[in-house]
Amino acid sequence: SFSHHENWQRVWRNPTPKKKYDVIIVGGGGHGLATAYYLAKEFGVTNVAVIEKGFLGGGNTARNTTIVRSNYLWDEAAHLYEHSMKLWEGLSQDLNYNVMFSQRGCLNLGHTLQDMRDIERRVNANRLNGIDGEVLDAQQVKEIVPVLDCSDRARYPVMGASWQPRAGVARHDAVAWGFARGADTRGVDLIQQTEVEDLIIEDGTVVGVRTARYGEIRADRVGCVVAGNSSVLAKMGGFELPLESHPLQALVSEPIKPILDTVVMSNQVHGYASQSDKGDLVIGAGIDGYNGYGQRGSYSTIEHTIQAIVEMFPVFSRVRMNRQWGGIVDTCPDACPIISETPVKNLFFNCGWGTGGFKATPGSGHVFAASLAKGEMHPLAKPFSMFRFHNGALVDEHGAAGVAH
Ligand code: FAD
Repeated sequence: SFSHHENWQRVWRNPTPKKKYDVIIVGGGGHGLATAYYLAKEFGVTNVAVIEKGFLGGGNTARNTTIVRSNYLWDEAAHLYEHSMKLWEGLSQDLNYNVMFSQRGCLNLGHTLQDMRDIERRVNANRLNGIDGEVLDAQQVKEIVPVLDCSDRARYPVMGASWQPRAGVARHDAVAWGFARGADTRGVDLIQQTEVEDLIIEDGTVVGVRTARYGEIRADRVGCVVAGNSSVLAKMGGFELPLESHPLQALVSEPIKPILDTVVMSNQVHGYASQSDKGDLVIGAGIDGYNGYGQRGSYSTIEHTIQAIVEMFPVFSRVRMNRQWGGIVDTCPDACPIISETPVKNLFFNCGWGTGGFKATPGSGHVFAASLAKGEMHPLAKPFSMFRFHNGALVDEHGAAGVAH
């Protein structure tokens, strides 16, 4: 019981907002909080508010399966995710907060000849970009994960995998809390339970936001980092984004003894699993096909997910599942994010991370903070402009995004 723990200090303040800020961040998920943290720490911009309609980190940040890797195919994406990976590697020290980043490696399984060709291509591309990666055969995969069914009796036998040893998992809540505390300490106001209901736009320039709780709050620049709600915010800005908001579900089992010490993902059988430090199997797969904002999904998707897991790991067939939930992910046509200026002056969006943005939390926050501080997009963010959907310069990462993760 916590009843004996009296006089605990608040980890962050609960301030009443000022009338005006240099920068307002809409959305207090991991990406929004990381943006605020780096704005204050790296760029000296401390007159900042993060406005969150619920509680900090209660959106996809709290709902994801925490896979962190950087083995994307194209240079633009690989550089962005690797920038993030490097920040992950020093994050607990930087924040002085244990985010439990565990580089236990990630296997992306191949079950067909085409899978294996794609894996060879992606690993070679990764290595040319200085990102660690190896192509493994089925025997090597079996050595890393003895409980995986690598026999030829499987419906889609495992032929091999890509292996990123530096990949892994982190503790999702700790990431949000660490960034929140670091931002608050440097003077950022974290405003919870406050929904942004409209953007205030004068002469094509954003000048603030309108909230139900505090009315108007003004700002020189506004950055929207609201994941599944990005289309709603874009509408307030008077433009559209090529995003679809889908439910994405995950589930965890009862805690069991250590049995899986790496991350295993399969695009073909379509499911993935890791084991948390608590002992539960953390399981996910694909999006629900329909659009919505309900943060829940349908049973058929969970059934499909479990079928895939049992096919890969017959040994898990009688493990009981403990909890299941859903988040709303903002999927983009080329499976890459949007980190961008918009048609409205001083209004910036960071979204479209879809099923795979947790791994990018520090990197996304860092490049978005640099962009907001200077009013000009960071070089790593430039390829991810929303205007790529006007000129056709897409960065197609469907292969590396694969099974939702
Ligand atoms: P969020 O954490 O969703 O934060 C957005 C915040 O904006 C929310 O807190 C919301 O309340 C707030 N907001 C929205 N509208 C308003 C408004 N009008 N006013 C004020 N606040 C508002 N990624 C990986 O890399 N690896 C994985 O293994 C992985 N697994 C996933 C599994 C599931 C089931 C899900 C749902 C997602 C998964 N993802 C994964 C994706 C990842 O969770 C997201 O890409 C990432 O967390 C997005 O972070 P965020 O901070 O942008 O969004």
